[in-house]
Amino acid sequence: MAARVDRLVLYNTRTRHKQAFEALEPGHVRMYSCGPTVYSAQHIGNLRPYLFADLLRRVLEAEGYRVTHVINVTDVGHLTDDADAGEDKMEVAARRSGRRAEEIAEQYTRQWMEDCRRVGCLEPHVTCRATDHIAEQVALARRLEERGYTYRIEDGVYFDTSKFPRYAEFARLDLSSQAAGVRIGDVPGKRHPADFALWKFPSPGVRRQQEWDSPWGRGFPGWHLECSAMSSEHLGKTFDIHTGGVDHIAVHHTNEIAQSECAWDVHPWVNVWMHEEFLDFRGGKMSKSKGDLYVLEDLVEQGIEPLAYRYFFLQAHYRQQQTFTDAAIEAAATGYDRLVGQAAELREAPGDPEASRLASFRERFRAAMRDDLNAPRALAVAWDVVRSRELVPAERWALLAEFDAVLGLDLARALPRKQVRESDPRIDAMVARREEARRQRDFAEADRIRDALAAEGVAVEDSEDGPRWRRR
Ligand code: AMP
Ligand code: ZN
Repeated sequence: MAARVDRLVLYNTRTRHKQAFEALEPGHVRMYSCGPTVYSAQHIGNLRPYLFADLLRRVLEAEGYRVTHVINVTDVGHLTDDADAGEDKMEVAARRSGRRAEEIAEQYTRQWMEDCRRVGCLEPHVTCRATDHIAEQVALARRLEERGYTYRIEDGVYFDTSKFPRYAEFARLDLSSQAAGVRIGDVPGKRHPADFALWKFPSPGVRRQQEWDSPWGRGFPGWHLECSAMSSEHLGKTFDIHTGGVDHIAVHHTNEIAQSECAWDVHPWVNVWMHEEFLDFRGGKMSKSKGDLYVLEDLVEQGIEPLAYRYFFLQAHYRQQQTFTDAAIEAAATGYDRLVGQAAELREAPGDPEASRLASFRERFRAAMRDDLNAPRALAVAWDVVRSRELVPAERWALLAEFDAVLGLDLARALPRKQVRESDPRIDAMVARREEARRQRDFAEADRIRDALAAEGVAVEDSEDGPRWRRR
């Protein structure tokens, strides 16, 4: 039996426990999410972190909090190798395409924002780019230097992890076994494999597109620095929630914590750390870095609309790996279509909801989301509402509309999905001819066309925006 959940409980990676959530500042939640590296398109797995962060934000808002959500865009400094060797992903993309790094960043930032919008994510309150915050990053690295946390080698200015005794704590790292590793050889002069770059100098003889002056000479910021610098800029020196993919725990987030706690003398820097698991793509981890890209538009071309992908995301808990297969996404698309169709019918039903009859379903939905965002269970409650015989249709719609503020599935859309999605030039032309016949008041012809369409299983409905059709 699940315990009764009367408060929002979240799994905190920092403590490895589910904990009742309390905002640091009453009524206001400040949260930061690691965003995309914009050197190429985001595959559908890369969208999972933003779907998760958006769900979290919506649940917090449903709990009555005002939320300030910040997402960063990494447009410099993320190397192909997390151990500070390798090349900057942006520079590689620029060289391969013969284009300017800024132009590439702009293109993929826009595309990422558009994809997020299409899968129903609310726009973050702040979207900040690393290249717009170079001065803040330099200032942060300077502060760490002044406090004795850094050393300088030929390759750049490094954070000395031996000066931060808590370094291994967050990710439960075994630094002694790391020290025995071979990776230290990748960067000559690095004292420990875990030490990481705050500021990098371009390799000898290499002229980078993206480099800036600094107290240490021309160069560019290390990848981890931007998140510490921009979060403090936009959210303050401590804040409530930091999100990201599980892959960030051991290196990126561990390093963000080292920088921020040492710069600001705070602990814990962030109260609650939340990490979502990966989308497992046909048996193997699909990584953007490995060049195997399956993007949102590929789904759309397959006839799966973006919000069906959100529905698919909601079918698994964020801390579970979710396997992506054609069968699974098709099933999600069918489920989503049905839910939208049911919602459209319920919405038209006459009558007024009686508030007292909504409470038990509302409580169940809320309890599911309060239990560390159990979206699959919440979705099941939405379906129980659709099928409920104890509620009249108007009551069912009232609940669905309320749940949708958290689910983000646009259940109040004008028409069931299939009517919006389908496009077939021949049928479009028949529908247009029927419309023309109606305008000419040739109702016999209009009816003849409608019957011909019906014989093919196509239903036409007249809406305010003109006729729409769908296959039955
Ligand atoms: P990349 O550009 O490959 O480093 O990916 C950017 C971020 O997207 C990663 O750091 C992960 O947090 C996230 N990510 C990558 N692949 C997946 C996946 N298959 N499922 C969920 N998240 C992913
Ligand atoms: Zn980050």
